[in-house]
Amino acid sequence: MSARESVAGKNSTREYYMSQLNVDPLEIEKFQSIASRWWDRESEFKPLHDINPQRVGYIEQQAGNLEGRKILDIGCGGGILTESLAANGADVTGIDMADMSLRVAKLHLHESQLDIEYQMISAEEFAESHAETFDVITCLEMLEHVPDPASIVNAAASMLKPDGDLFFSTINRNPKSFALAIVGAEYILNMLPKGTHEYQKFIKPSELSKVARDNQLEVVDITGMTYNPITRHYKLGRDIDVNYLMHCRTL
Ligand code: SAH
Repeated sequence: MSARESVAGKNSTREYYMSQLNVDPLEIEKFQSIASRWWDRESEFKPLHDINPQRVGYIEQQAGNLEGRKILDIGCGGGILTESLAANGADVTGIDMADMSLRVAKLHLHESQLDIEYQMISAEEFAESHAETFDVITCLEMLEHVPDPASIVNAAASMLKPDGDLFFSTINRNPKSFALAIVGAEYILNMLPKGTHEYQKFIKPSELSKVARDNQLEVVDITGMTYNPITRHYKLGRDIDVNYLMHCRTL
């Protein structure tokens, strides 16, 4: 019996995979099963399409002109953010662990005529050969889907050039975020499939700030993203109770 089989026998295969790779196979499966719809603006991915102009605007406002900058997009999915960064003239690489999503992302380049390198590789493994390589790193709406988010922050920090800009976005953890991001979005408004998010995986801004500081990063800004179910619009602002963006730089 191989070491892998013996460990997998003791724990579940899922736990084995997570302990080795910082990838939750059930999370990846969730995205694989809906991957064909990444570019359908009325699909499960509608919220990401709707918020995209505001978050790209935020990244540009905080990091300056993206033209010619070398950018890594961690957890790029079908390329919604990745393409917008490339359309602004950046030299972008996107990584994800869901191969169906990456296939969709690559196919969509035929339509957008953009040039982006997509790779199926974990952030930790990619970091092994990309120390201090990127001017800007983005990791949006991804940390709440991984077993060990601190390990992603650590890998991202190591790949950032000394004067680089690093962006995260995720979901805060409190009764209001439970009510809006899970009950509201998944059960009442049906904006997202049920089970998209797990409450325990939400991350408080204070927790993410501490992990950032532990990795020699300074938190430059935290900005909230709020959704108005009546107007169906997102806007950026001070309310960080549910969705928020964080901008970090090296200390
Ligand atoms: N960042 C994109 C997509 C967010 S959806 C955007 O904001 O538009 C979350 C993405 O994280 C999915 O594409 C999923 O496949 C990816 N993901 C989940 N766990 C991952 C892991 N451990 N490593 C890399 N990508 C992961």
